Amino acid sequence: MKLLIKNCNLISVDSNRDKYEEGIDILIENDIIKKIGKNIDENVEKVIDATNKVVMPGFINTHAHVPMSIFKENLDGYTLQEWLTQKIWPAEAKLTDEDIYNASILSFKEMIDTGTTTIVDMYFMQNNIIKAAVDSGVRIELTRTLMDSDGEGDRKLKELEELINSDIGRNENVTINVGAHALYTCSEEYLKKAIDLANKYNLNFQMHFCENSQEVLDIKRDYNVNNPADVLEKHLKNTNSILAHCVKLTDKDIEKMKELNISVAHCPVSNLKLGCGIARINDLQEAGINVALGTDGQGSGSSLDMFEVMKFTALLQKGVNENPKQMPAYEVIKMATINGAKALRMEDKIGSIAEGKKADLIILNLDTSVVNPINDIFASIVYNTKGSNVETTIINGKILK
Ligand SMILES: [Zn+2]
Repeated sequence: MKLLIKNCNLISVDSNRDKYEEGIDILIENDIIKKIGKNIDENVEKVIDATNKVVMPGFINTHAHVPMSIFKENLDGYTLQEWLTQKIWPAEAKLTDEDIYNASILSFKEMIDTGTTTIVDMYFMQNNIIKAAVDSGVRIELTRTLMDSDGEGDRKLKELEELINSDIGRNENVTINVGAHALYTCSEEYLKKAIDLANKYNLNFQMHFCENSQEVLDIKRDYNVNNPADVLEKHLKNTNSILAHCVKLTDKDIEKMKELNISVAHCPVSNLKLGCGIARINDLQEAGINVALGTDGQGSGSSLDMFEVMKFTALLQKGVNENPKQMPAYEVIKMATINGAKALRMEDKIGSIAEGKKADLIILNLDTSVVNPINDIFASIVYNTKGSNVETTIINGKILK
């Protein structure tokens, strides 16, 4: 199948190309971007006229809990710990296979509608999520969440290793990683087992980390450390890790995380709604840490719309640091795309629009009263564009919207 996108305005996020190019054609053959250039003349099955439209890479949402679509807006007034123990965990205990499948389908629809092409998930009953992902056509990296605070840790580890070795949903769009829930739900001995599993199969490792002040106190007490990153330094030296939130970090934590080459999944909407605080994203980036973006589950993140996440990311850092020069819009677009690919060690496949890469891209119609006039295309995308401006979403060469 050959598909030609004609005459678009391109934000490729490819460092070998100009940041913004007009009048570009993109030839897609099956799942791959075959050619990018002007006036491509080729016999194809389908042509999309993208005149006056913007093509950019699909977003990479590096932290979500896919089936939590059904928990939208049930937390107002709760702290993180109250919400988990009083609302979420009791409800989750009752979820059926069918619930998980249907809730996942809803999330994948939302994701496609708002221009995200890859999502990182941390949940359980994962076979239903995989089935929904394959049926929806999205790209996903997921785990079976590990925690042993309920005494069921070893069963979960076994389930995850079975998943790693199974052909369930074995599909180039589905990858597995190892996800430990958090240090406050994993004993040190169990954490070590989880990381060993990631290293055994050379898989990425994901975990919530320093989401709020209470968590920092819990880590210091349970792990007997001065800085939460002391735990990372002890165990994550040889592992590619993506840590979600990282709101409450000391300078020492940041220094250690840089040494460990850890990527951060910044989820500003969820952090604000749960009253966790504002992560030191500008400081993390200045330290050279790779920061990608995420929504978190819709229970705390409200939606999977990555445009919203980009806007909050930029506004919060400028505001809290009283410095409007921070977070240039183009850098924020990179956080939502190529930085996510780097976090997942998939930058050779996704995260930018380049010949030879997977065809994961979106077409934006910005011809609306809200967006016009466009004085700075990157700022228009970060501040004025919404998921509803996504006209077309293509994942792995397939037109899904
Ligand atoms: Zn989360």
